[in-house]
Amino acid sequence: MLTQEKPQQRNWQPIIKELQAALGTKNVVQRREELITYECDGLTSYRQRPALAVLPRTTAQVAIAVQICQKYNVPFIARGSGTGLSGGALPVDDCVLIVTSMMRQILSVDYENQQVVVQPGVINSWVTQTVSGAGFYYAPDPSSQIICSIGGNVAENSGGVHCLKYGVTTNHVLGLKVVTPQGEIVDLGGQVAEMPGYDLTGLFVGSEGTLGIATEVTLRILKTAESICVLLADFTSVEAAGKTVSDIISAGIIPGGMEIMDNLSINAVEDVVKTNCYPRDATAILIIEIDGLEVEVQASKARVKEICMNNGARNVTTASDLDMRLKLWKGRKAAFAAAGHVSPDYYVQDGVIPRTQLPYVLKEIEALSQRSGYRIANVFHAGDGNLHPLILYDNSIPGELEKVEEVGGEILKLCVRVGGSISGEHGIGAEKRCYMSEMFSETDLETMLWVRQVFNPQGLANPTKIFPTPRTCGEAARSMGRKEEKFTQISGVERF
Ligand SMILES: Cc1cc2nc3c(=O)[nH]c(=O)nc-3n(C[C@H](O)[C@H](O)[C@H](O)COP(=O)(O)OP(=O)(O)OC[C@H]3O[C@@H](n4cnc5c(N)ncnc54)[C@H](O)[C@@H]3O)c2cc1C
Repeated sequence: MLTQEKPQQRNWQPIIKELQAALGTKNVVQRREELITYECDGLTSYRQRPALAVLPRTTAQVAIAVQICQKYNVPFIARGSGTGLSGGALPVDDCVLIVTSMMRQILSVDYENQQVVVQPGVINSWVTQTVSGAGFYYAPDPSSQIICSIGGNVAENSGGVHCLKYGVTTNHVLGLKVVTPQGEIVDLGGQVAEMPGYDLTGLFVGSEGTLGIATEVTLRILKTAESICVLLADFTSVEAAGKTVSDIISAGIIPGGMEIMDNLSINAVEDVVKTNCYPRDATAILIIEIDGLEVEVQASKARVKEICMNNGARNVTTASDLDMRLKLWKGRKAAFAAAGHVSPDYYVQDGVIPRTQLPYVLKEIEALSQRSGYRIANVFHAGDGNLHPLILYDNSIPGELEKVEEVGGEILKLCVRVGGSISGEHGIGAEKRCYMSEMFSETDLETMLWVRQVFNPQGLANPTKIFPTPRTCGEAARSMGRKEEKFTQISGVERF
């Protein structure tokens, strides 16, 4: 069993010295006032200053930093841009944060094979900016794409408004160079889509920094569609907008993206972004993007418009030119930030439900809002059934955060009850680990822990994330009466 030294007992001097020798003095951040930058990610209600932060530039430097952490038995946590919303990059009190913000090179672009190789700190939107001149783009587009890193996207298996048709990050990662928690450098996957053997690339994507640190990522890029059209339908009920989503898919049309915003979100966005395109009196708007060959887009556009009208849409605006399309999307992409305009604080939830349950679940969320007294704005990737209720509150009132987290928890349990999931794209991190057992049995959780144990036997890579309780490999096997297998405890640092 790993026993972790308490921070006050640890002598940091030799660790700092070795890290400085490997990475350069200025790339080892140790002053408390400088470390404040790293004390939280986008889940700002959870804060913990790390002991140190290091800023490597190369795979070799990441490997050395990890080896030093190994040698001194120090937990380490990868951090990209720190926009995660589940506390994935939240430090533990005596950890080294390995920050990838100096690893921002696009290493190669190969149009013939439709792939690019990037360092993990590269910002998501830079990939499309790099290749758009040649008629390509990178499909996964989180709303945070102008700031979040590809490494963070890989770790969270991030989604975005255009992931309905083309899939989330895992569908676009061909290969990875990874520094394992032992400090070894390995290549997972490769330049071809299907590799023989276990899909370790697939396993790594979404592992939230618990299986190692990605230092190079080979991404698939797609050819920009011949024609793209965005429709904005204006509804007097959220349920009607939700039903329209199911009807469009049932009609055999798979839009690039399909997003719903409710009245609270619409007005917040119009106050801040001033698109002047979103009808302020609509109960909900549905934004739909259709792409493909011109002839196909024209046919789908007519059919989608018809479905919207059949479901009671008051009006459907269409936009084909780039400026107008971007304008229609701009408000949606700024929706989280805009919530800060209508409330001092907001708590974002991220759950998934089967699309057909949208009308029911939205009604239940409304009822929960009435019961709890908190306003809840709804913005979501409707086509994927990925909800993002934003619970508005005031964190300066003592006890409010706890109450709001409970409301958020009720929403997650509702998602699970209707056959959905506790996370669509923001990950489990520190925030949602207590809900893992709502979805997974003991045996399921233990199977995942066995996997983590193989890659991360000392539990030094991003400890305390994803899994709910300190547990021991072999627990479920023993509880099922199987012969006890040899096991070691995952890590002492799991205690919280
Ligand atoms: C306004 C706003 C809108 C958002 N919209 C979306 C959205 O539409 N879709 C969506 O999916 N998410 C969204 N997010 C959440 C967030 O942007 C994503 O989770 C993003 O992928 C995090 O990237 P990051 O670089 O900020 O990672 P960080 O927050 O720094 O880290 C996230 C996790 O990745 C791990 N990690 C980071 N780099 C590496 C690496 N190189 N190797 C291994 N592990 C690593 C960290 O340890 C941590 O567990 C949004 C966030 C905000 C603030």
